[in-house]
Amino acid sequence: MAGRMAGSMADGKMQAGAAEYDVIIVGGGAAGLTAAIAYLRRTDAGRLLVIDANDVCGRKLLATGNGRCNISNLAADGYAEIKDFFESIGVLFRVEEGGRAYPMSGRAVSVQSALVLAAERLGADFALGQRVTEVRAGAADGGFEVKAVDPGAAPGMTGAAPGMTGAANGTTAGAHFYHARRVLIAVGGKAGPQYGCFGEGFGLARKLGHTVESIGPALVPLVYTEAERGRLAGLKGVRVKCKAELMIDGRRAAASSGELLFAEYGLSGVMMFDLSATMPKSILEDRPQVCVHLDLVPGIDAPALGRLMEENPGLWLSGVLDEKLSALLVRENGADSAKVAAAAKDFKARLSGTKGWKEAQTTRGGIPLTEIDGDTGESRVAPGLYFAGEVLEPVFLCGGFNLSNAWATGIRAGASM
Ligand SMILES: Cc1cc2nc3c(=O)[nH]c(=O)nc-3n(C[C@H](O)[C@H](O)[C@H](O)COP(=O)(O)OP(=O)(O)OC[C@H]3O[C@@H](n4cnc5c(N)ncnc54)[C@H](O)[C@@H]3O)c2cc1C
Repeated sequence: MAGRMAGSMADGKMQAGAAEYDVIIVGGGAAGLTAAIAYLRRTDAGRLLVIDANDVCGRKLLATGNGRCNISNLAADGYAEIKDFFESIGVLFRVEEGGRAYPMSGRAVSVQSALVLAAERLGADFALGQRVTEVRAGAADGGFEVKAVDPGAAPGMTGAAPGMTGAANGTTAGAHFYHARRVLIAVGGKAGPQYGCFGEGFGLARKLGHTVESIGPALVPLVYTEAERGRLAGLKGVRVKCKAELMIDGRRAAASSGELLFAEYGLSGVMMFDLSATMPKSILEDRPQVCVHLDLVPGIDAPALGRLMEENPGLWLSGVLDEKLSALLVRENGADSAKVAAAAKDFKARLSGTKGWKEAQTTRGGIPLTEIDGDTGESRVAPGLYFAGEVLEPVFLCGGFNLSNAWATGIRAGASM
């Protein structure tokens, strides 16, 4: 990637000559790049540096929407502003089913390139392949000192990277030091570690005095209890269009509808991802009873299903459901058509939790909105510090809403920093 490389220092302390910026953006993903562009377009913009741990900005963006990038949604907050923003950098939208917007090119890479090109054109500096490990407030001018380390350093570490000679003698070879009056933390959450996100923003924020609402993977497949896995693993690969309710300790916590995929370990598909956003935070400690109730045949009531089976002996429900699912219902309900019909309308699967961070599309929990100014994204705890994107607490459903949040909070921070 083009873009000037910021200066670096070999000494562990801040020194005169540390690379100076007006604004440093930590994390050049969806929110960070948007913020950089919004800031640099201002007539009063100063020098801006984007630091990203990857050697390319917006790496996760390339994987979004299965490579197509579900960039926004007609129903998303700030949709018109987001659409205008992208038009201004040359990306036009095409809207599909459910109000989902995609780049007209149909390719996520065009979104990433447009953002990077616009930020470069506006004069952003980039420090790539550098992982920020510390952001310290309290510089003499009220600004921040930012420390980043070269690749090889473990996520979250605060000293020199392994094998760096400086670790023993107090110097930090391979570390880079920067200074800025304002800093935006836009490092995302913990979802998708394969794209370079390890949740380090939460540690950085805590050290600056913020709290962090307990986090968990979201927009992620749901996992059966061990017993349920024995019962349902054979349905692996079966797809069904259905309605679902997530019940936690007998209470309805969420509902969704769409296409469900039975996996060997549990339940997948966009509708299950949406339910995962409301999974209990402390499922392991509190052991709540978590169960999904499925209506496998929405639109047909139980008496009609019963009649269908009675009028077509031996067919059971294989005329309306996958054969494997129909056979399971018959086996579990003693070949009693009324019971089979009732079970198809209220099919229960007990859950033990969700898949992990690698499969998750986003993070549940994070920096509480009460700790930032809703108009600017500025911290109420550490003035001059800003947050945008997935590092913030709210979680959004599938359909382009998470990227919308990243763009909208990025634009807000860029316009205010
Ligand atoms: C497979 C997949 C598909 C998805 N598809 C969609 C979709 O189609 N539509 C949608 O709305 N949402 C989708 N999402 C969610 C969406 O990608 C995120 O909500 C969004 O990218 C969050 O933006 P962000 O800028 O906060 O974080 P990110 O885009 O994750 O960017 C964070 C950046 O910070 C960098 N970074 C992390 N730690 C450090 C550090 N310590 N120092 C320096 N840099 C650091 C990372 O390298 C990264 O570039 C998907 C997510 C995944 C994993």
